[in-house]
Amino acid sequence: MINRRVLTCQTATATPLAAVFESENRAEQVGLSPFDRITCRFHRRWIHDCVVSPAHVVAVAGYRWCGDCAAAATVMVDHLGCEVVVWCERCDRRLHDGPNEQLRQVCLRSLEVSRGRRAFSPEYGVRRSA
Ligand SMILES: [Zn+2]
Ligand SMILES: [Zn+2]
Repeated sequence: MINRRVLTCQTATATPLAAVFESENRAEQVGLSPFDRITCRFHRRWIHDCVVSPAHVVAVAGYRWCGDCAAAATVMVDHLGCEVVVWCERCDRRLHDGPNEQLRQVCLRSLEVSRGRRAFSPEYGVRRSA
């Protein structure tokens, strides 16, 4: 039942995963940060689909990481409500600090683009020198 409801959330205008993946591969070569990608080069999936993998915990950068607990955080993805929460189970709270908030935003964008709720822009996140 859940799958059927998720499908109705999709639209015909959603950009296919493969197209976004290839576009971000090219964008990365001209400055897109790997942390700003909405597709995962490692898992070859939407970031919100594979962010639960331990490979997405980057302790030194503070990604999916609670600094206070020195522990990996969990990411909860609500496909129906299109909401993403980065959560530390040890201290039982949402993580809003810079890297975790960036991760949350990227997962949200990934979710929305995959559903056709938001247009994909390959330029997003590319830092241009003035
Ligand atoms: Zn991944
Ligand atoms: Zn914590």
